Amino acid sequence: MTKRVVLLEEGTAEMKGLIGSKGAGLAALLQAGWPVPAGFIVTKEGCRGFCTRLAHLSTEGAQEINSAIQHLEKQSGKCFGDSLEPLLLSVRSSETCSRDMASHALLHVGLNDVTVEGLARQTNDRPYALNCYRMLLEDYGQLVHDIPYALFEEKWGDISILDEAKLEFAIAEYKHLIEERGHYPFPQDVQLQLKEAMRVVSESQRVLRANSQQELLRKSSHFSEETQGAAVLIQVMVNGERGEHSGIGTVYSRHPGTGERGMTGDYISSAISGGSNEGLDRLRRGDPKLYGLLQDACSDLESRTKEVQEIQFVVNSGTLYLVEISQTRLTSQATLRSTVDLVDEGVLTKEDAILRIQPFHVKEMLQASSTLSPELQLLLEWADEMKGLTILSNVDHPKDAMKARLFGAEGIGLCRTEQLLLSASRFPFVQKMILADSEAERKRGLERLLPMQQADFEQLFESMDGYPVTIRLLDPPLHELLPDIERLREQREQWSLRNGEEENTAEVQELDRVIRRVLELHEQYPLLGQRDCRLGTVFPEVYDMQLEAIFRAAVKGIRQGLWVRPEIMIPLVGHANELQDMRELVDHVADQVLGEEKRHCLYRVGARIEVPRAALTAAQIARHADFFSFGTDDLTQMTFGYSRHNTEKSSLHFAEQQRLLPSNPFQVLDIDGVGQLVEMALVQGRVRKPHLKAGICGENAADLASIAFCHRIGLDYVSCLPEQVPLARIAAAQAAILAQKQDHYKNRQGRNISTIA
Ligand code: PEP
Ligand code: MG
Repeated sequence: MTKRVVLLEEGTAEMKGLIGSKGAGLAALLQAGWPVPAGFIVTKEGCRGFCTRLAHLSTEGAQEINSAIQHLEKQSGKCFGDSLEPLLLSVRSSETCSRDMASHALLHVGLNDVTVEGLARQTNDRPYALNCYRMLLEDYGQLVHDIPYALFEEKWGDISILDEAKLEFAIAEYKHLIEERGHYPFPQDVQLQLKEAMRVVSESQRVLRANSQQELLRKSSHFSEETQGAAVLIQVMVNGERGEHSGIGTVYSRHPGTGERGMTGDYISSAISGGSNEGLDRLRRGDPKLYGLLQDACSDLESRTKEVQEIQFVVNSGTLYLVEISQTRLTSQATLRSTVDLVDEGVLTKEDAILRIQPFHVKEMLQASSTLSPELQLLLEWADEMKGLTILSNVDHPKDAMKARLFGAEGIGLCRTEQLLLSASRFPFVQKMILADSEAERKRGLERLLPMQQADFEQLFESMDGYPVTIRLLDPPLHELLPDIERLREQREQWSLRNGEEENTAEVQELDRVIRRVLELHEQYPLLGQRDCRLGTVFPEVYDMQLEAIFRAAVKGIRQGLWVRPEIMIPLVGHANELQDMRELVDHVADQVLGEEKRHCLYRVGARIEVPRAALTAAQIARHADFFSFGTDDLTQMTFGYSRHNTEKSSLHFAEQQRLLPSNPFQVLDIDGVGQLVEMALVQGRVRKPHLKAGICGENAADLASIAFCHRIGLDYVSCLPEQVPLARIAAAQAAILAQKQDHYKNRQGRNISTIA
């Protein structure tokens, strides 16, 4: 049978699932010899059994809890419910799941109209005892009966004055409020108090996260897990609120904001009226031994848990108690700094360090600064030693190439040349060239564009000296390059209104010609029409110009002493013959332009795999390809039939809302479908060409799970935006570490099986 009550001294750090993180943390502290107030945990199972609202505790349940309380009585020398030496308890939730849930506590449980006087005598401080009782009533009313805090506040007024008469008045008013609002009087029976406290603290974990009834039904398993409640930690109350050498505080083993080494925190000494927060200085000056003890506790716990720790502590008449320990929330900067330091101190391995970095840490660091902090830089260097994948960057403009290098990109995985051609200064020439009636006219337009493209490539080669620069030849559908027909018609109409129909100037003739040409080129489904390498077949001069610009830039770079590595990507290949044709074109232009420098320019020609047919016939395509570049955005679009644009209006958005899909496949690669195509194409391609280079460069190239998949199937690279490169480097290293761990585990399993056999 699952245990229902566990004494703190019986618990271990590994029992988190049973006794909750708080309970397990304190049990570990106790085992390590640190002073922790005596206590026990009622497990989640126990709470479910003991704490139902109406039922009384079963005899068995009451016995189990009673014997745990007796244990505390023995340790403290006090008695629960006793009028002379009353034992007071704190009742806290101890979460068993890591979800972000508010934790609740009731303190001073065991006080009633009689025991409060016992406490007053014990402490020789009646106002103090009355105030503890007042606080219990306030917390009880809020937690058990949901009475708003403001109603208590109204009755209490100035909190800083602990006047006996005023306290007695407040207690009477609070009891009245509880009875009136909660329909039951505050229980004078301390056992009942404890039971109610356990129930409410355990139930306060029942956080409903689903947004709608429908979601609740759909996610019923999730729902039931979250409503199971928490384990409850019950401890002897230790007070830091009274006496010369008393106080309460919180310490962090490192600074939670900056990650700086050394203990920091707050301490409120009860010696100062009103309890002002003086930081830890007062404690260090007043009690260096105790301060040293806290420092030792911090470093001891940190080296055990390998995490920055937050410890709540109480000083009771000079004696230190650690009352709560938790892994502290750190800023991203603090996470990085402390992680790097923990490696330096030999607490963490570099692998551990890399595995604890989350995408948001890197994103937040880069939002705060456009350069890499020394800690991030170091972590990235470690990641590079571990990762298998090469991280390239999608760079459409030369100005972004340096940024990509700065963030550690090992080359350009995708340069969309249309981005260069469609800039305001160049677009008119592109349109002119597309709309030209004759080849000669088109060539004239291209001659204007050639030096501009060449300059772009020169800059890219210079920034990426020694690294590959993958240049995709013109890709967009034709309609993106054409003027808007409606605007042209409007212009034509206005012209007629101004000049009448008879007028037949060169200007209007040209307008009519352009309208005719646009109508000629109009397609019903432009995305499936003349675009990419198919556009290159219709207008071969465009690709001629682009190739000439690439190779001219390469020659110039080589002559300047650069190591130039152009990789020419043929967009949207669907049939091996398309690639074969294009490859011949590339080789032809290269022969003509490179001349002498050809032996220094080891260019590659590769296929953009974006349509399912290309993936299915990868073996044939690989015959003509030096590399495969999977455009996972378009491949996802074509495989799913979901539009990648305006996704908020698309059926994808609807599917996401309905939770029909596990995630947005444009953000997280759909491993079962699109991923299968990628893997299949890779295997087929490599059967034909074992050294075929391959990678992805869609939006999901910086996603953790997608990168892990790319690593697992043996892709060579992922290519993402410059600002995503650091994150991809970390993710690639994480993928490699986890894969290695898995292999190691499988090998061990295999060995065990063969030993048994
Ligand atoms: C893709 O399709 O995955 C891709 C990155 O290319 P583009 O965005 O240019 O279509
Ligand atoms: Mg694409």
